[in-house]
Amino acid sequence: MNFAPTEEQKMVREMVRKYSEANIGPVAAELDRTHRHPEEICRELGGMGLMGVAVPAEYDGAGMDNVTYVMALIEISKACASCGVIVSVNNSLYGYPVNAFGTEEQKKKFLAPVAGGKVEGCYALTESSAGSDAAALKCRAELKGDRYIVNGVKTFITSGNIARYCVLAATTDPAAGYRGIINLIVDLKETSGFKVGKVEEKMGILASGTAELVFEDAEVPAENLLGTPGQGFRQMLSGLDAGRIGIGAQACGIGRAALEDALAYAKERVQFGKPIATFQAIQFKLADMATELDAAELM
Ligand SMILES: Cc1cc2nc3c(=O)[nH]c(=O)nc-3n(C[C@H](O)[C@H](O)[C@H](O)COP(=O)(O)OP(=O)(O)OC[C@H]3O[C@@H](n4cnc5c(N)ncnc54)[C@H](O)[C@@H]3O)c2cc1C
Repeated sequence: MNFAPTEEQKMVREMVRKYSEANIGPVAAELDRTHRHPEEICRELGGMGLMGVAVPAEYDGAGMDNVTYVMALIEISKACASCGVIVSVNNSLYGYPVNAFGTEEQKKKFLAPVAGGKVEGCYALTESSAGSDAAALKCRAELKGDRYIVNGVKTFITSGNIARYCVLAATTDPAAGYRGIINLIVDLKETSGFKVGKVEEKMGILASGTAELVFEDAEVPAENLLGTPGQGFRQMLSGLDAGRIGIGAQACGIGRAALEDALAYAKERVQFGKPIATFQAIQFKLADMATELDAAELM
């Protein structure tokens, strides 16, 4: 198997690296300190096609492959892990299910603005009593006429405090278990009965908001249903698979930044009259880090 990137992939990586080093890295600490959503960076990354890397060009994406997406995400996350996760959620947790299961109309209306980087998307699955056991979700969607009436609270939703659109997992029939789960596309800025709840205080990745989403008799047009009833759980599982690729890439970017900083410091820090990088014990550690990172990136 050939793991070598194509010329196009290398070109995109170089472009994203240059952009991230010049524009994201220098403000990353400030973003983290102030918990500020990097609005201007999101818009610029959108202009570069990075908010919908694998989304077809007809829906304002870059129409590229997943390896390119991962390479770009590693570079962004190397400069700022918060920016990395925001980009990841737009591309995967939100972008993937809408692209894979949405109708032509839904994609034009709800995917293009996110893939084009004009607004953010999020995916709301987790609830206080449904984490790993996602099929136990309680958020209820009752079809009444041409709308779903949604009641429930979602927790830990990345970008939930700033996103315009959300793919929301809910159940039409709690007794049906996973078969009752559907996914609805919700316009969070135009839905009465919706509000952002608590925004979590985290220990890191602070420019990425992690929020509670509260739905109280929120009205969602029935035409916003993704796919058909009964498919929701499968859609959710494939969306989460896409999300894991993004979070894996984010972790590789964070690791790459740690390695580069450690290497630079080891060359600069002098003890016992020599840079500590000349000591074999330090070299072993750096070599192990580099090996594990290479292995992780190749996955
Ligand atoms: C920063 C952040 C961002 C997030 N963003 C989103 C988002 O955008 N959208 C969204 O829907 N959710 C999001 N989540 C929620 C995330 O998906 C959940 O935290 C995750 O599903 C785990 O659920 P939980 O935290 O309730 O842990 P629990 O399910 O309560 O698990 C607790 C522990 O038990 C372990 N465990 C659980 N079941 C088993 C088992 N069967 N066998 C062995 N061990 C088990 C788990 O591995 C874990 O260590 C986010 C979470 C965080 C922290």
